[in-house]
Amino acid sequence: MNIHEYQAKELFEKFGVATPPGKVAATAEEAGKIAEELGGAGLVVKAQVHAGGRGKGTFKNGFKGGVHVINTAAEAQDIAGKMLGQTLVTHQTGPEGKLVSKVLVAKAVDISKEYYFAILFDRGSSGHALIASTEGGMNIEEVAEKTPEKITKEFVHPTIGLQAYQARKVAASLGLKGPLANQAVKLFTALWNLYLKSDCSLVEVNPLAITTDNQVVALDAKFNFDDNALYRQKDVVAMRDTTEEDPREVAASEFGLNYIGLDGNIACLVNGAGLAMSTMDIIKLHGGEPANFLDVGGGASKEQVTAAFKIILGDPNVKGILVNIFGGIMDCNIIATGIIAAAQEVSLTIPLVVRLEGNNVEAGKKTLAESGLAITSADGLTDAAQKIVAAVAQAA
Ligand code: ADP
Ligand code: MG
Repeated sequence: MNIHEYQAKELFEKFGVATPPGKVAATAEEAGKIAEELGGAGLVVKAQVHAGGRGKGTFKNGFKGGVHVINTAAEAQDIAGKMLGQTLVTHQTGPEGKLVSKVLVAKAVDISKEYYFAILFDRGSSGHALIASTEGGMNIEEVAEKTPEKITKEFVHPTIGLQAYQARKVAASLGLKGPLANQAVKLFTALWNLYLKSDCSLVEVNPLAITTDNQVVALDAKFNFDDNALYRQKDVVAMRDTTEEDPREVAASEFGLNYIGLDGNIACLVNGAGLAMSTMDIIKLHGGEPANFLDVGGGASKEQVTAAFKIILGDPNVKGILVNIFGGIMDCNIIATGIIAAAQEVSLTIPLVVRLEGNNVEAGKKTLAESGLAITSADGLTDAAQKIVAAVAQAA
């Protein structure tokens, strides 16, 4: 789950991470009022979307830049008016862009230098890592590729937590000394507390800025939260903005389904992420293109399969469905009954290939065969992939 920059700012304030004051607005008039409250001059207006690269982005109406420095309340209102209700395209949004329905009005600072700083979950070390670079404000993937020596990585043990010497080491790697180093250490420590207490998997501050009056402040924020911990993060869940997410993924999450849309035409419905990955692979191996990743988890109940079919069929590119279910604890016959009921409920008209394996598989296959529906049974992964690829090719 992600949040907006203005919401990240609220978390920053709660955990004592230094950041310029600001407030969110949903209308141009509101933006003007906030600008007045903040003193009118020396402010920034920033488009709020779940994507970076806003500064260099362009709106579809031709207006340039999702981040503007302004110097009067009237100007804030004018700029907000040009952003709100418009679609911003950045290198992270894809060509379709993202609709801006809120703007942040915040104090501008005079930047003397920009840095990159992040804390993230690091699978490689089974722990956490602090990442810092003197190349702030830039695309960090590009820095990592071209000048990896400009990136510092400090690993944090999950039970010991961030140690003061580690925060100092990272500050030193950025060339910060004296009071600036102290401020950076304070900010890193506050951010670490925020990261840990809020069950984040990533907090990225790009840029972390040093101002001309020697303050260390976070000017931008990107957050990712561990979805498995959201049950104990009510405040975080309350920040969720589903309008920023793929509507199919939102619908899927309501039924405990993991769905990710792709651009092929063969939809897959699978239980277990590993099996889902191999199903997508085998479809490709046999010349097909998967339309999605869809993991129904351990269950595959009638309700889940029906919801999954509906989501799958909402994609106009889908020309066939491959169901690949392993009945472990679940009985294949119950799954087969669920698939039939779901196919009937959505009045399925495109080819459906079902591969069942495991507990009570023979009964499951018999149920499918006797259903009277045009369901093709398959034996094994290869047979399943070949059958669905052939069926889709034939239908085309
Ligand atoms: P994005 O990464 O989406 O482009 P940022 O929040 O990083 O958005 O803003 C882009 C640039 O705008 C920053 O690198 C910084 O130079 C400038 N900027 C952002 N916020 C402020 C601020 N409060 N004061 C001064 N400059 C800012
Ligand atoms: Mg940024």
